[in-house]
Amino acid sequence: MSRKLGQHFLVNKNKIQKIVEALELKKGDVVVEIGPGHGELTTEIRNNKLENRIIAIEKDKILANGLREKFKDNNNIEIIEGDALKILTDLTYNSKLTTNNYKLTGNIPYYITGSLLRILSELENKPLLIVLTIQKEVAQRICAKPPQMNLLAAITQFWTEPKIIEYISKNDFRPIPKVDSAIIRLTTYNPERKQASYGAGQQFTTEEAEKYYKFVKVLFKQPRKTIINNLRDANILMHTNYTNKKIQLKKEEIIGKFQMFGINPQDRPQNLSLEQIKHLSTLF
Ligand code: SAM
Repeated sequence: MSRKLGQHFLVNKNKIQKIVEALELKKGDVVVEIGPGHGELTTEIRNNKLENRIIAIEKDKILANGLREKFKDNNNIEIIEGDALKILTDLTYNSKLTTNNYKLTGNIPYYITGSLLRILSELENKPLLIVLTIQKEVAQRICAKPPQMNLLAAITQFWTEPKIIEYISKNDFRPIPKVDSAIIRLTTYNPERKQASYGAGQQFTTEEAEKYYKFVKVLFKQPRKTIINNLRDANILMHTNYTNKKIQLKKEEIIGKFQMFGINPQDRPQNLSLEQIKHLSTLF
């Protein structure tokens, strides 16, 4: 058992079933699973009789070998031994996964949550749905609305519609971890999507996304400061980045722009809605 790889195994079958239900699987869906461990979740997905193709990525060599043995009679299940963070992007291309045909899941080790979300956000062909078991507090931060808006929420809600499906007590894992978990579902907004059947179907280009991410990092740099103070410092920075010219807007000019969106510049960034943050990001 490797604590370094975050190996806490979910032993509550009910919760494993909830993860599978949240995936809303249909015939023909491909499921990418991160960190299958001993294959409990993999088994539950296999047992739904939809004959979904499953691609499971496990970093631990011993566990990966065990999984190969366990699923050797299942032609639909492919076990890849490797670091999901390193291979996921190439895998989505090489396996010809497209937004409309694959979903991603995993009871992932806490330590990879941030990096995995970043990698997923940058994928050109994102999964249609992502269902993860992550630390409860992180799930709550991702789903936050004003007055609890924060950087992680502003980033994740830009490319997904997040929803906490259910909480999982730490006692449902072996060995028992220090904190509770939550099953979170992220429904992606994807430029490839033809119909807005999931989420609001919002679309954005890579350039718009990059600009937005840069902006929110500045906006939430010092969450206890007012919006205006965070942005005033950053104005130089942002214009330097975008145009290579040093332009510093005066405080009065910024305040004028804010009024267009009914934003009080003396407010704290945590009180802004996602829509307001998106509007603001287009101004600078
Ligand atoms: N999904 C299993 C379950 O519910 O019982 C195991 C979950 S355990 C929290 C996390 C699993 O992810 C472990 O099997 C661990 O070896 C694996 N893992 C850790 N880091 C990984 C990585 N970077 N890529 C793929 N798997 C990883």
